[in-house]
Amino acid sequence: MIDKSKRLDEVKYEIRGPVFEMARQMEAAGKTITRLNIGNTGPFGYALPGYITDALSENLEKAQGYADTRGLTAARKSILAQARDRGIRVTSPDNVIMGNGVSELIQMVLAALLNEGDEVLLPTPDYPLWTAATTLSSGVPVHYLCDSENGWQPVLADIEAKITPRTRALVLINPNNPTGAVYSPEVLKSVVEIAGRHGLLLFSDEIYDSILFEGAKHYSTASFTGEYPCITFGGMSKNFMMPGFRCGWMIISGNTDPLADFIEGITKLAGMRLCANVLPQYAVPVALSQPSPMVAMSQPGGRLERQRRICLDFIENTEGLSSVLPKGAFYMFPKIDLQAFGYADDFELAIDMLQTTSVLIVQGTGFNWTGEAHFRIAFLPEADELEAALSKVKARLDSRREAIAAGIPVLSEVLIA
Ligand code: PLP
Repeated sequence: MIDKSKRLDEVKYEIRGPVFEMARQMEAAGKTITRLNIGNTGPFGYALPGYITDALSENLEKAQGYADTRGLTAARKSILAQARDRGIRVTSPDNVIMGNGVSELIQMVLAALLNEGDEVLLPTPDYPLWTAATTLSSGVPVHYLCDSENGWQPVLADIEAKITPRTRALVLINPNNPTGAVYSPEVLKSVVEIAGRHGLLLFSDEIYDSILFEGAKHYSTASFTGEYPCITFGGMSKNFMMPGFRCGWMIISGNTDPLADFIEGITKLAGMRLCANVLPQYAVPVALSQPSPMVAMSQPGGRLERQRRICLDFIENTEGLSSVLPKGAFYMFPKIDLQAFGYADDFELAIDMLQTTSVLIVQGTGFNWTGEAHFRIAFLPEADELEAALSKVKARLDSRREAIAAGIPVLSEVLIA
């Protein structure tokens, strides 16, 4: 018997958890599943722009070897230039580090920072990798509330209340996954002020910064931090629709002197994995020299905006569901009145949805959310496919709600399985 490490016992990542596993088994048995569970543009016909495919094919040979541990200089210089344009104080391309996706960098910074029992302030709901990686690094995730009544903006008083002598860092995800919230400059300035007053390191995950709806504007946290250190995360997965290439970066801004030892730790970890995937880094300079294709897709008439509308209509027209209007990213996080539909919990909802409609969603508790029940939909499929999937979900939910209202007991598929 080979057991997994004890460290993993408390690590949760439900986006690829048991419901996802069940979907895989159904697919293996010949079922077609509509995957509304994950922010993967790959299967849904988002063609890479020609300037990216050209950069990839032209540099195939050059990308054969290992690169500098921090990444290709040209890529890092273009990221530095974009950061400066956004008002971020970053002095040298050495303060930009490339990773195999932001995912790797999240794990790297937390492993470099945390000692056993150190606390990290994370949003709830959150993108659960932040929580999982904190736990994996022997840290303690402490969740601060984002308020659905206030467009899912962070609750400043809750952040303050949860700071202890063990708190080391504060994480912002903006635009947010799973809520789609885009934070106002006032909120960001207040969070920066709180972090500064308590000496917390700021991590700002801005991987969706080009995906904005209805005129929403994104502000980088680091544009308000000046000389105060902040680490900003971005990448090619979402804005440039190439998650499979695994290409992300982090920008260490402000006065880096107080971070010298921590940066030495990050550099050690970056060196241990030799370098990040080299080929996509060749596409970074050309990609950042123009707006992301997601900008046009999020405008009125663009496909993402159309898909978002379809999702909103589904929520509006289904009694028992409601949602805050998402302003960024490509997720919706509707609230569901579980009782009205006869579900014991959101896990039962996700399994029942999968088994009766072949639509895969993620239950709200998968985002470390413990308030009223929610679930997440990624609205990435083309309009026709999305509409077809959501109308099956609506039919299932409507029939359950009507049965419950009529006093007829409803048996969830999860109980039959
Ligand atoms: N951060 C957030 C908020 C995300 O939603 C995701 C992926 O969904 C990531 C980071 C990871 O992105 P990457 O593909 O760069 O690893």
